[in-house]
Amino acid sequence: MIFHIITIFPEIFASYFNESILKRAQKNKIVDIKIHDLRQWTEDKHRTVDDTPYGGGAGMVMKIEPLYKALQTLRLKIKNKKPKIILLSAKGKRWNQQLAKKYSKIDEIILVCGRYEGVDERVKKFVDEEISIGDYVLTGGEIPAMAIVDSITRLLPGALGNASSSQDESHSLPGVLEYPQYTRPEIFAIKGKKYQVPKILLSGDHKKIAKWREKKKKII
Ligand code: SAM
Repeated sequence: MIFHIITIFPEIFASYFNESILKRAQKNKIVDIKIHDLRQWTEDKHRTVDDTPYGGGAGMVMKIEPLYKALQTLRLKIKNKKPKIILLSAKGKRWNQQLAKKYSKIDEIILVCGRYEGVDERVKKFVDEEISIGDYVLTGGEIPAMAIVDSITRLLPGALGNASSSQDESHSLPGVLEYPQYTRPEIFAIKGKKYQVPKILLSGDHKKIAKWREKKKKII
């Protein structure tokens, strides 16, 4: 699966994508993450990607031309496969595990990161979906893009050490949250208090443990 990320801050991604599961998924060719600097699709000497908003108001708006050119160029490079184009936006449809599952079946995804006050509204005519990662405003689309790449990659065959990990996790079934997890020590003692691991988990009785875990799943 190939992710393309269009951004004006290409350096932001390296530290997150070069660790842990995402690093391994790239090394094992499960995913390929291509970061594209939007400024390469500008034509003036200042490599301008933003301008003041029509009608006045605070901040700057990302111009349509560089974004359109970026999408056209990437579309041409991606032969025979129609990529899905996602615009990151606080106004978009809320990202969730079900959407991550749906998108994990797609070969190639282009993620467009906004900055400033957002993008010229006309960009929406050239994308497939506008996605928000939650009801709050971030400074740019880069963190949402990382969240989307991460949540999809976890679902791809071979990405996790144990395939069942992603099947049993919270939200795999809509509205169902995973059971509580514990590890050593059996008793954590601090400030005169003792915090004990539930006895059932130490019993070695896998049937009973499975039943307990089922009971402890939360439905929201
Ligand atoms: N003025 C915009 C508004 O009120 O909706 C917010 C713009 S925000 C400062 C700049 C960029 O960050 C957006 O264009 C978008 O790409 C990204 N962004 C911010 N919050 C987001 C969220 N919750 N989900 C996805 N992208 C977000």
